[in-house]
Amino acid sequence: MSKFCPNCGNELANDGKFCTSCGATVGNVNNGNAAPVNVTVNTQSESNGMAVAGFVISLVSFFLCCGSLNWLSLIFSIVGLVQAKSKNGNGKGLAIAGIVISCIVMVLFILLMVTGMFASFAEEVSNI
Ligand SMILES: [Zn+2]
Repeated sequence: MSKFCPNCGNELANDGKFCTSCGATVGNVNNGNAAPVNVTVNTQSESNGMAVAGFVISLVSFFLCCGSLNWLSLIFSIVGLVQAKSKNGNGKGLAIAGIVISCIVMVLFILLMVTGMFASFAEEVSNI
């Protein structure tokens, strides 16, 4: 019959009304089965700005800047993914999406550049 703090997860002494680790008021928690209100509030307030920025920049880069901002969105997304670990996984999906989009767009535009170079080269050769 041990209780755990809904705020920090510290194990509480029996009949503990507040957490000795972080000082949060515990109240009546049934072995941690009830959804802890504090945790949901925390995850909502801790948005992952870097992951969102990385995802948005990767889209902007693809649609508006011909992939020129890919390196930026890749950096933002990787930082967002790292930060997601300390934010209860918040923004993890966005960060991964940002990295995937950045990589796909990067490969796409490198292929376009290479094939474009070959095409112009072939054109020059045929003109001679
Ligand atoms: Zn606590």
